[in-house]
Amino acid sequence: MYYIADVDKEICASSNCHLCTTYCPEANCINYSEADKSAYVSVDRCKSCEICVYICRDIAKKNAISMKWINDLNEKFVFKHSGLVIR
Ligand code: SF4
Ligand code: SF4
Repeated sequence: MYYIADVDKEICASSNCHLCTTYCPEANCINYSEADKSAYVSVDRCKSCEICVYICRDIAKKNAISMKWINDLNEKFVFKHSGLVIR
């Protein structure tokens, strides 16, 4: 197991910048939910590269993303496109 990028939705929602979604090297890994007004990470696709952390902290100036041990994530496996959420 490993670390996964985790988005603080409250901080992210104050920005609406979408920046991290354009820099993640993995397809369909970090996306933006218009319903939540926040970016979110598909846990099964994150490769722990931390690029999104630096983009959010250093470019967006929001610091809304941190790396969390996979067992400590609030939302464990989120598949928003299929509508299936397993906690
Ligand atoms: S870069 Fe940060 S503030 Fe911008 S959408 Fe991503 S998580 Fe939200
Ligand atoms: S850590 Fe890397 S792979 Fe994971 S969401 Fe961030 S940019 Fe994408």
